[in-house]
Formats: sequence, C-alpha cells, structure tokens
Amino acid sequence: MYQPEPFKIKMVEPIRLLDRPAREKCLVEAGYNPFLLRSDQVYIDLLTDSGTGAMSDRQWAGLLLGDEAYAGSRNFYHLEETVQELTGYRYVLPTHQGRGAEQIIIPYLVRSRGGKYVVGNMHFDTTKAHIELAGARAVNFITPEALDTTTEYPFKGNFDLQAMERFIQEEGAASVAAIVATVTCNSVGGQPVAMANLRGAYALGRKYGIPVIIDSARFAENAYFIKQREAGYSARSITEIVREMFSYGDVLTMSAKKDGLVNIGGLLAIKEDEELFRACQALIVPYEGFPTYGGLAGRDMEALAIGLKEVVQEDYLRQRIGQVQFLGEQLKAAGIPVQSPIGGHAVFVDVGRILPHVPKTNYPAHAFAVALYLESGIRAVEIGSLLYGRDPQTGEDGLAALELLRLTIPRRTYTDNHMRYIADSVIRVCAQKDRIKGVAFEYEPPILRHFTARFRLVD
Ligand SMILES: *Cc1c(COP(=O)(O)O)cnc(C)c1O
Repeated sequence: MYQPEPFKIKMVEPIRLLDRPAREKCLVEAGYNPFLLRSDQVYIDLLTDSGTGAMSDRQWAGLLLGDEAYAGSRNFYHLEETVQELTGYRYVLPTHQGRGAEQIIIPYLVRSRGGKYVVGNMHFDTTKAHIELAGARAVNFITPEALDTTTEYPFKGNFDLQAMERFIQEEGAASVAAIVATVTCNSVGGQPVAMANLRGAYALGRKYGIPVIIDSARFAENAYFIKQREAGYSARSITEIVREMFSYGDVLTMSAKKDGLVNIGGLLAIKEDEELFRACQALIVPYEGFPTYGGLAGRDMEALAIGLKEVVQEDYLRQRIGQVQFLGEQLKAAGIPVQSPIGGHAVFVDVGRILPHVPKTNYPAHAFAVALYLESGIRAVEIGSLLYGRDPQTGEDGLAALELLRLTIPRRTYTDNHMRYIADSVIRVCAQKDRIKGVAFEYEPPILRHFTARFRLVD
C-alpha cells in the first residue's frame, strides 16, 4: 500500500533553483567540482545523508531542555538510558561524531591486543583511516554478490564468513585486533547485513576470542530490511530486531548523524566489559571531553536521545526506505541502470554502463554529476575512480571496479515531488549522454583528491 509521510511540515527552508547561465557560472567557479559549490547554489543537495536530516518538533523542543553542566548533565542520563534500552549495552559514552568513537576504540584494541589486522564486511573510510593510523591493516570480507550491481541478492552487506574464518586461521587469531560489522554497509551502497550473518560473525569472534564492533550508523535501516527480507522476522518489532542485532557485538560505534536523526553527534558503547569501558572512559577525556558530554552540548544529547526513539518507529522507516525505493524504481522503469536491490539511504546509478564511451581516467560518474547540476541544480557525488585515487606504488589511475553516481537522500528533508524531479533530471541527462565526454584535472591534490580537485571538461 502507498505510504505517505508520517509527518506534516511546520517550518520550511526556502531553496532556489538558479537559472541555467548562473549554474554554468557556478560550475566554472567551482572548477567543475560539485564539492566546491556553495550550498546556496544548489537546489537539491544529495551529497550525503550525514547530518543533513530534519529534526522533529520534539527534538527541537529537547534543545531547550539542554542542561549544560560540565559534569552529570541530565541529558546524558536520558541518552544513556535510551541507548541502554535500545541496545542492551551497559556502558555509554557520547562522542562528537562517529569518528570520535573510532579514534578511541580502534587504536586501543590494536594496541592492547597487538593485532596487525582489523577485519570487516567493508570498512567505512574513516574507520579504515583510524585502523591505518593505529598501524594495522583494514581487510574486507564482503560477500561476492555485493560487487555485481545487477543481482537482486537481499543482503549484499553480508560478510563472506568462510573467507574471513580462513584468513583468521591462516594469520592467527592473535593478529586480528577486532571484527567490525558495518550496518548497513555504507561502502557497498547502504546494503543490509542479515541477522544470521551477524550471528555468524559474532560466533567467529567468540570462537577465536576477537572482539566484535558494530559500526551502527544505519542500524535502524538495517533492522527494517531484516524485517522485510529475512525469514522469521516479519512479525518481530523493529526494537526487538535492533536489540538482537546489537546482541551480536561487544562494542558499538555510531555516527548519530544518520539514524540518530541529529545534525551532529556520535556514540561509543560497550556491552559488558568493564575493563574495556574504564580504558575508553579514560581516553574519552583528552580526545573528546568529560565522559558525560564527550564533545556534545547537553542539548545535542537530548536531541539524540529523542531521535533514537523516533528512528525505530516503523512508520518512519517505511516512509524513509520507501522514499529511496520510490526514486530508484522511477529510474529503473526508465531503463537506467541502478544498483539492485536499492539501498537504504541512497540510489546508486551505474554510470559506467550509461557512459561506456568515457574512459575511466576521465571519470564518467563525476562528469555525469557535473551534467546533472547543470541540467537541474541537483548535487550528487561520484563513487568511482576519482574517489578511489591512484595506486600509491605505480601511480596508475582509473582503478575502481564501478563508476557510480550516488544520489543520497537526507532523512525527512525532501518530498516525493523532489524525488520525481530528481528522477526526471537524471533521465534528461541520460538522454544527452553522447554529449558527455568526461573531465580532466586542472589541479589534482596528492591525497583525498576528490574534495578539492579542479577540472576542465573534455571535448
Ligand atoms: C558516517 C559514518 C562513519 C563516521 O561517522 P562521522 O559521524 O561522519 O564521523 C562511520 N561509519 C559509517 C558506516 C558511517 O556511515
């Protein structure tokens, strides 16, 4: 059944579509890099779903209840109680965002366990960065189905458990500092991890004595997919599913900017290991802040406590995931190749298949993003060879397996009419695909080049 939004709008933020000559000028000034556009030059911003969602009236009201005491803020206790109830984890530490939690737990586990590796389904980039900064290597064991965008496999975020176990046996359990389960798996397109697979990963952790961290930025979206797709869960409530998911971990890190439904915030929580908690609590102070605020204002903790209750409401999730599907289905119906099944927070357009005439070293998906902004004022982001970067040894470029354009949907922010406009715009750009020839660098930064690079159009 068609499910309209389970909210109405009581405050609006005007957005404006600049005319085409103005958009053309903005692109030139931004060096044909959408990251360098100012947000008021953008009509619909699909760069990320991180911190870009709308808070509810209750969350805004919660801001006024902020208790800005340095120690023992009442909002901390509200947050702590909410997280304990939601996850079953005993120890809760707020952090300024997800990477704030990562910078505490990852180096600690690598150091204290002396491990050489941190294994996962597929590590998010800040997680990978913290693993590498701690002197370990990040190794991914994603199910092979994830790399084929055309198959309808329901749990493309799954671990390849057999391959992971083989690795643990070959390298020795002592060399693996932690297992990280990322739910949903952002780096393969917001694809869910099945409950059975989380259970299996945790069983491996138990068997080999390796702690399991749940990287839980989109935990509620993952739970909704389990309810929809996994046998035995359709009659279970989202909160029950969430509780079971977290039972298959020892530690959670969370970027609350996604399913926390806030604009800033994060969490580190520990299920029951008091010694680990004491160690993290001691590290939180110099890195993030006193343990009852950890880098957040009291008001931010209040908004997060409320957001964590709203995000597990099933009508919220049905509309949230439904809106992303609605966009993806319109593109599919027009014959546009998109990653299947459609993920929880974004639609990934397989631009490599739309623009086979553009060499990977002219970044087809980035060129598509430029054309989309010019056509419609929509800002989307390349996930392909530009993002992937050069081989550090050989300098070789154009190495990503897929050239994708990510249309990331902020939570509770845009309407279904915006989705229609996005779909129509992508379809219009596809109709002019022969005119897209790619982009070439005018300036290529040595690291994280996609953020600040400047380009020219290839003709
Ligand atoms: C966003 C994200 C992070 C990092 O969180 P920040 O709040 O951006 O620091 C970590 N893991 C996953 C899966 C994420 O999506």
